[in-house]
Amino acid sequence: MNKKIAVIKGDGIGPEIVDEAEKVLNKVGEKFGHTFEYTDVLMGGCAIDATGVPLPQETIDICLASDSVLLGAVGGPKWDTLPGNLRPEAGLLGIRGAMKLFANIRPAKLIPALAGACPLKEEITKNGLDLVIVRELIGGAYFGARDTHVDENGVKHASDSMAYADYEIERICRVAFDMARKRGKKVHSVDKANVLDSSRLWREVAHKVAEEYPDVEFQDILVDNTAMQLVHNPAQFDVMVTENLFGDILSDEASMITGSLGMIPSASLGEGTLGLYEPIHGSAPDIAGQNKANPLATILSVAMMLRYSFDMGEEADAIEKAVDEVLAEGYRTGDIMSEGMKCVSCSEMGDLVAQKI
Ligand code: NAD
Repeated sequence: MNKKIAVIKGDGIGPEIVDEAEKVLNKVGEKFGHTFEYTDVLMGGCAIDATGVPLPQETIDICLASDSVLLGAVGGPKWDTLPGNLRPEAGLLGIRGAMKLFANIRPAKLIPALAGACPLKEEITKNGLDLVIVRELIGGAYFGARDTHVDENGVKHASDSMAYADYEIERICRVAFDMARKRGKKVHSVDKANVLDSSRLWREVAHKVAEEYPDVEFQDILVDNTAMQLVHNPAQFDVMVTENLFGDILSDEASMITGSLGMIPSASLGEGTLGLYEPIHGSAPDIAGQNKANPLATILSVAMMLRYSFDMGEEADAIEKAVDEVLAEGYRTGDIMSEGMKCVSCSEMGDLVAQKI
């Protein structure tokens, strides 16, 4: 197969980690007989420097005309003082909106070789940790009506509204149930239905969708209880579906308990197969340009791209297996280094994974 990939290397460590992901993808292409064609496009700080805006129209056009989009990371101190709409992060929100990506998929899995980095006690993780958070990405409080004003008494007010329409909830729930069918066949729908109207609608719609998936075990859970259960008994979760703000917070909590930011991939999907794939970490300006970054989250993001956008499950498995093997052999980048392990650079880690494909 021939696939066109738009590549946003971005800022900081972005170009270094994306180069390693392409290295691994090229090896997959050689091994399985596919061709991956890359088109580099600008977004974030580098786009601001070159064009004055964080997300040039050309970038949007090329992303929409591609089979998939790979993103490194954007942002850095150089652009921190710009107004909100001109900051690198505005590019991220803009591209998600332009590509109509409403579902963010974030796996949190405890890799046996890195179990020592997990901050939870062994008695809690002995049953494993392998879950996926399906987060609604373009609705809720981040996109609802907002207001800041000073009233006639000089008191300052600010508000954000968490708004959802039934169809927005339905389509994200379907993503979660379809995913659960391919995994552990269990969905937890996370809400705050004891307090919020938007959550009561969420719960009503989630139940309706659940009826269509009798083979998938389904349970509602309140968001506060979910935060506790994640550190108390994470093995009970398979697929968790939730709204934007809750998902933002819970997915960071879930990432933390797996031990390393440099290991976690993500996918953002819309109605079709076009998706945006990126590591969950930022541009790590403190180590940029030093060949020290951990490229594994980006390499694992490419595995998600193969699985979700290109329907290449076997190829995706090959990457994930290669990563597990390299770690099991004791190779580590600085961020996941521990005593007795072999410390390697970003490019060496990419070479090691590519060799295992
Ligand atoms: P960060 O994730 O960039 O870095 C946090 C810490 O983790 C740093 O010490 C960094 O060195 C380390 N780290 C992160 N990724 C690593 C990797 N792959 N290998 C080794 N170490 C790694 O978060 P931050 O410092 O809060 O943000 C830095 C910049 O990134 C900011 O401008 C922020 O806005 C931006 N950011 C971008 C994205 C994105 O592009 N999606 C996401 C988060 C933050």
